[in-house]
Amino acid sequence: MSYRLEVIKDELGFASAHFITYHQRCERLHGHNYQAAVEIEGELGPDGFVFDFIALKRIMRELCQELDHRVLLAAQNKHLTFTEQEGHLTVTYEDKRYVFPLDAVVMLPIANTTAELLATYLCKRLKARLREAGAAYIKRVAVSVSEGPGQRGIYSEPFE
Ligand SMILES: [Zn+2]
Repeated sequence: MSYRLEVIKDELGFASAHFITYHQRCERLHGHNYQAAVEIEGELGPDGFVFDFIALKRIMRELCQELDHRVLLAAQNKHLTFTEQEGHLTVTYEDKRYVFPLDAVVMLPIANTTAELLATYLCKRLKARLREAGAAYIKRVAVSVSEGPGQRGIYSEPFE
């Protein structure tokens, strides 16, 4: 027997810029109104719920706000070089170069800023926060990220 909680709300959106690299190509910088959603699976605690909905929403909202109005960069992308100087970050792909003020970027510990890997990043951050919050009845956590309506990348893993 298991129960599932889902949070699918506009407040879990973030408007961010990114580009991905693929097949020896690098996309031009562009943006999306991303939408995240979360699903938690588990057992009921003594009070009849798996985890507090309000706390779950608050954590996810905070994580999404960290990405909002930022340029999302994949720190582990082997095709990109990052150089920090005088409060700015230079991102280089072959002969192409972007320079951003440091407070405009978020360096994410992923290899590419695809919807799948953004979902993975958010899921791992969410798990850490749930652990801090003492979640005792959760068995599985899934996070999805969409770049636009009707298509999303979903990542899930056990919560131990
Ligand atoms: Zn894109």
